[in-house]
Amino acid sequence: ELHIQGVRKCFGKGDKAVEVLKKIDIDVAPGEFLILVGPSGCGKSTLLSIIAGLEEPTEGAIRIGGRDVVGVPPAQRDIAMVFQSYALYPTMSVADNIGFALEMRKVPKAERVKRIGEVAAMLQIEHLLDRRPSQLSGGQRQRVAMGRALARQPQLFLFDEPLSNLDAKLRVEMRAEIKRLHQLSGITSVYVTHDQIEAMTLGSRIAVMKDGILQQLGTPDDIYNRPANTYVATFIGSPT
Ligand code: ATP
Ligand code: MG
Repeated sequence: ELHIQGVRKCFGKGDKAVEVLKKIDIDVAPGEFLILVGPSGCGKSTLLSIIAGLEEPTEGAIRIGGRDVVGVPPAQRDIAMVFQSYALYPTMSVADNIGFALEMRKVPKAERVKRIGEVAAMLQIEHLLDRRPSQLSGGQRQRVAMGRALARQPQLFLFDEPLSNLDAKLRVEMRAEIKRLHQLSGITSVYVTHDQIEAMTLGSRIAVMKDGILQQLGTPDDIYNRPANTYVATFIGSPT
């Protein structure tokens, strides 16, 4: 479904060039929920940006559903992203926020309304559809942001620390919600976090990165019980 093949990324030129990703290879199976973890600055967001098409790789290939997408603009990649800052449209209602991408794609009104209703039901925000983002709590805004992404029925979901702005209680709640949505939708997902518990509970597999290098790629059980090196063991808190 998603193939990341020999991806390198350098920022800057000549002497000042910095290699932020060093030959990353990851294959993500259809329906998989892949977690990307690692310390601040290790290149997680850069890798997501490359998958989304917001950045181009210096070298390597990205294949989505069998198609080489390097050079394909973000809007044509059939991807939806959810970030920690919700970036909802402040002047639009919740319903319009969710339906906006469909409107852009000229989906007829009746179908849009139906789709908005389905997504709102999945996220249990039917009672909020007429409100504006400023009239919502943090968790509700996060649900709307996810609704907006879900409405597009993308082939691939990219999450960049979507819960890091929420308080601990809400984070636990939303974690369960994301898990439930993934089980319902079956959409292949790549999810960046530096929360180990989030990684262990949500991931079908976990990719551990450090300094632009993939340290280990495995199931939560592999990573926890058979860490590839001391860095992975320390990061994930394995018994040693
Ligand atoms: P965090 O957990 O803090 O979000 P991250 O793993 O997402 O970190 P990235 O945002 O991918 O890290 O950044 C990786 C490295 O690339 C950092 O050293 C960062 O300063 C650098 N970097 C990111 N974007 C650019 C850019 N546009 N130009 C130059 N350097 C950049
Ligand atoms: Mg980041």
